[in-house]
Amino acid sequence: MDSKQKVVVIGAGPVGSLAALYAASRGNDVEIYELRGDLRDPSTTPLNFTKSINLALSERGLNAMRNSGQTKLIDHVLGATIPMRGRMIHGKRPNGELYEEAQDYDIHGRAILAIDRGGLNKRLLDILESLPNVTFFFNHKLAGADFKRKKAWFEVRDGGASKGNGQPAREIEIDFDLMIGADGAHSAVRYHLMKYTRMDYKQEYIDTLWCEFQIRPKDTPADATLDSKFVISPNHLHIWPGKEFMFIAIPSDDGSFTCTLFAPAAFYAHLESDSSGSIIPPFFDKYFPGVTDLISPDDLISSFQKNPHLPLISIKCKPHHYSSSVVIVGDAAHAMVPFYGQGMNAGLEDVRILFDILDKHARMDELNTATDPASTRERALEEYSAVRVQDAHAINDLALQNYIEMRASVLSPTYRFRKWLEEG
Ligand code: FAD
Repeated sequence: MDSKQKVVVIGAGPVGSLAALYAASRGNDVEIYELRGDLRDPSTTPLNFTKSINLALSERGLNAMRNSGQTKLIDHVLGATIPMRGRMIHGKRPNGELYEEAQDYDIHGRAILAIDRGGLNKRLLDILESLPNVTFFFNHKLAGADFKRKKAWFEVRDGGASKGNGQPAREIEIDFDLMIGADGAHSAVRYHLMKYTRMDYKQEYIDTLWCEFQIRPKDTPADATLDSKFVISPNHLHIWPGKEFMFIAIPSDDGSFTCTLFAPAAFYAHLESDSSGSIIPPFFDKYFPGVTDLISPDDLISSFQKNPHLPLISIKCKPHHYSSSVVIVGDAAHAMVPFYGQGMNAGLEDVRILFDILDKHARMDELNTATDPASTRERALEEYSAVRVQDAHAINDLALQNYIEMRASVLSPTYRFRKWLEEG
């Protein structure tokens, strides 16, 4: 990238943290502004208000982390993940017998990795904290930005760079050379960017809510191996498909599974209407046979009642930048439904591609002393938007298509016929 600049990253989620790492490793002064408190502090409310969600990490995301040059990061990631070599479809035959059917992702046995998003995020923050040119500003909410004058305003909850203490917010003003907006689906950076560029923007909520459940680990002796703690195969992404519903389970590194129920809003309303929750176990028995053998009826009811019921949004916009001063990455640029397991992966990939392009333009201008860093960066951001918007839209569409595939096509006669042909 260009000679030392002040890069401010908005949002300390996985994508913002990786962007900060890339910017810092190029010698820039990096400041990270995050709305919430420090994720590593137990008193901070996690994103989505639940403990954490498990994600599928694929080569796209891994490669972006590998290219950060931080071996500590890759060692952590590979140590803390569980390979999932395929999906395991659960169902019931017409004679009432329960079955499970493994469908490998790859004939060469390559796998996607189950990872705890919170764990990954904390590791990224630890690495960033060890770098001398990175400063965190937690409890700082981006409130306004002027991308011509390169100034931004934040509401600060506590008067410091650590926890909030309930005092009224005050406002601060900062300058920057480049702002990287990684502040998620409801991005404030994107909102302000729209005032500076003729942005095409489309957002869509699908008629599905999600809620988290957990399959507990087996009760095993203290010296038991991790594998012996799992009640179903740890090396698969488990799916209970139902035409309008879907229940999935992803392994965690303590022997449990983080599970997600996807169902139309009307069904949630129906289940919510019974305050005792007694209709929830029969609902699972009808649509997700076998789940009540893995999660007790009491656990199903309490998870449904305690955990939030959250919507799913899909966002497309273009361009992703303005001039030399701002670019949006991750969910801020392309939030997508989670059915292709690529939201975070694509966001991490944004970072790799963005810095590849910034580096390329900086190298091209190295010998041209008349060129200032801002004009080099402006050309790089233009190229980035042109390249990345198309890919972001494509993966967004694939994610919506896979929604149909995961719910129903894994069971369809066409799928079975194709599979039979593939298997010879
Ligand atoms: P976020 O994680 O949303 O982080 C944004 C950060 O910005 C937050 O910390 C927020 O507090 C902060 N912020 C917001 N507003 C402001 C402001 N005004 N000022 C300062 N800071 C602000 N992806 C995968 O790759 N694989 C999967 O298997 C997968 N499964 C998923 C399952 C579910 C149920 C869901 C909902 C998503 C899934 N995803 C998956 C998508 C993935 O979670 C997101 O793509 C990813 O978390 C986006 O990261 P991000 O850093 O861009 O944004």
